[in-house]
Amino acid sequence: MTRVAFIGLGNMGGGMAANQAGAGHQVRAFDLAADALARAVSAGCQAAASVAEAVADAEVVITMLPAGPHVRSVYGEQVLKNAPKSALLIDCSTIDVETARDVGRQAEEAGFRFADAPVSGGVMAAQAGTLAFMVGCGAADFAAVETALEPMSRATIRAGEHGAGQAAKICNNMLLGISMLGVCEAFALAERLGLAAESFFEIANKSSGQCWSLSTYCPVPGVGPQTPADRDYEGGFATGMMLKDLKLAQAAAAQTGAATPMGAQAEALYALFAANGFAAKDFSAVIQLLRGKLAE
Ligand code: NAD
Repeated sequence: MTRVAFIGLGNMGGGMAANQAGAGHQVRAFDLAADALARAVSAGCQAAASVAEAVADAEVVITMLPAGPHVRSVYGEQVLKNAPKSALLIDCSTIDVETARDVGRQAEEAGFRFADAPVSGGVMAAQAGTLAFMVGCGAADFAAVETALEPMSRATIRAGEHGAGQAAKICNNMLLGISMLGVCEAFALAERLGLAAESFFEIANKSSGQCWSLSTYCPVPGVGPQTPADRDYEGGFATGMMLKDLKLAQAAAAQTGAATPMGAQAEALYALFAANGFAAKDFSAVIQLLRGKLAE
């Protein structure tokens, strides 16, 4: 049994904290939102009244927060001041590389072990405990990070030092955003050519167009496995979240001078789709934009 502090109990963190409790750990949970905290308590966590209270005697601190500014403030103002120095600190939020490196450095200077460990897999994987974690941490700390993440994980891979987990995450999601647009564009053209979506799926799935966005996350309802397309694009990975990750990738590309023209195009298309009122829909719903049928 490990004493785990879990901060940020939203769509992702709620399921992740429940899996820590389900694995027999003592989970002291905190979220600014009372309903999120109440759900975590009903899943076996103990409610803390503040971040400071949650981390006070923690062996492991896990955070799952919306964006970089939340991570900076929760660590800078609360975790680093209140957790025991022996605690292993793991931030699973998706944030910019620079913030992850800064927080990692501050944590290290304060005497803590820190890892950035963003995840791949959505809300269902968070609930099922089958997330993939990409980890930026010191090599000597990785075994402890892997053990701490085990109840929530199907794969935990070390990407490198602080910030490397976030770097892997934004590159992966830029690739995902681009590949989903490619799959959507191909289905939209196939439809115009009078090809049945089922036939195109069957053929592309066995041909060189095969990829995760097609085979596992097909954007056309009733085709391939069950996906958010079969639920009117509800649940899954929101367009607004994809847009956030594409913006992080573009900011990183600008900082490093990397050429990412496809990523820039993907950002522009998802921004247009979100601005038309679809930010909350699953990102595969972008097929409606490419069909020229936003109103449907
Ligand atoms: P969410 O908005 O549902 O949850 C975030 C939670 O953090 C909220 O409950 C909020 O109240 C809480 N919070 C914010 N500031 C806080 C503070 N100072 N102290 C305590 N709690 C605070 O978001 P989510 O969907 O759970 O995503 C969390 C992170 O995971 C994001 O960085 C996101 O990009 C990433 N992510 C999400 C998905 C997904 O499919 N939703 C997939 C992979 C990664």
